[in-house]
Amino acid sequence: MNTGARICGAQAAAFLDARLAIWQGRLNLANWKISLQVSHARDLKPKTMGNIHWDSQKRTATIRVLDPADYQLACRDALSDMEMTVVHELVHLELSSLPRSQASRHEEELAVNRIADALLRLDRQSGAATTSPTAASSPAAASTPTW
Ligand SMILES: [Zn+2]
Repeated sequence: MNTGARICGAQAAAFLDARLAIWQGRLNLANWKISLQVSHARDLKPKTMGNIHWDSQKRTATIRVLDPADYQLACRDALSDMEMTVVHELVHLELSSLPRSQASRHEEELAVNRIADALLRLDRQSGAATTSPTAASSPAAASTPTW
């Protein structure tokens, strides 16, 4: 890992923890205990940027996000995309009380992509994201987060 990637990794943890708290509040998920786990590409399904596992009884969840070292992006763009993954997985959590079938999975994925994209756009338009990486572009189209 080069120095740049190491610095970005250190920034990522603090940045994502702060953003997670904000999004949990916005999505009314503050009563969940959610932990973030930065993961290498080899530990995620191919072509995915993250995933989430939850326990509804305990109200605990773990969100895995792709390690910035495994992004082929500048640090600020990687952080921006990682936040997108966090929001995406939180929307899945929001929907977790609904019935889910193999047939609904694909439709849920499409809906979650659209909702997460809209939320991030609103956030970045409003300028509320003062803690977000400066001049973050919108890499939504490039990302393919999953379950
Ligand atoms: Zn998904």
